[in-house]
Amino acid sequence: MKKKLLLHVCCAPCAVYVIEKWRETYDVTLFFYNPNIHPEPEYLFRKKELEKISLKKGWQTVYPGHEMEEWFNRVKKHKGYEKEPERGKRCSLCFNIRLRKTFVYARDQGCEVVASTLSISPYKVTRQINEEGVELAEEFDIEFLAENFKKQDGYNIGRKMALSLGIKHQDYCGCVYSREERNKKTRLKEKF
Ligand code: SF4
Repeated sequence: MKKKLLLHVCCAPCAVYVIEKWRETYDVTLFFYNPNIHPEPEYLFRKKELEKISLKKGWQTVYPGHEMEEWFNRVKKHKGYEKEPERGKRCSLCFNIRLRKTFVYARDQGCEVVASTLSISPYKVTRQINEEGVELAEEFDIEFLAENFKKQDGYNIGRKMALSLGIKHQDYCGCVYSREERNKKTRLKEKF
């Protein structure tokens, strides 16, 4: 019998590549927990894209709710985190928040393995993601698949797969701070 894998999914485009790699080996359930996503309509947009493809592909997907306020409360406890750049300390906390909830659900549902799609993104530091995952794996006594999908050209392959399936991409990481960074860059481009 296949082991039960709970796969934390950040968005639909990142999920398509990762799930195809693991469906043969594991009994995969997707877990869309991303309280970092701001504002609410953006969260609903990303959720809808995943719902569409999950339905089409017959994926089993869990949506435990947004909980954006909780994410803000956790970040605000750390002075200066709102000014951290993408790939900084705030991101480690962000990964921890998302993965912790995934581990809690995995424990409650009797899943033997946890993983995340996060490492596929070239904008994220894989070491930061895997450090959080490995630490939580010890705490919960559940295996964590510390992957680096960037190395396998996962991002580009995944983008092509998503495009062919009509899945739309987002253009910033998720939180209000990454959105501000994106807006600043756009304004600069428009200026020059
Ligand atoms: S930039 Fe991305 S990973 Fe970092 S805190 Fe914001 S949403 Fe989380």
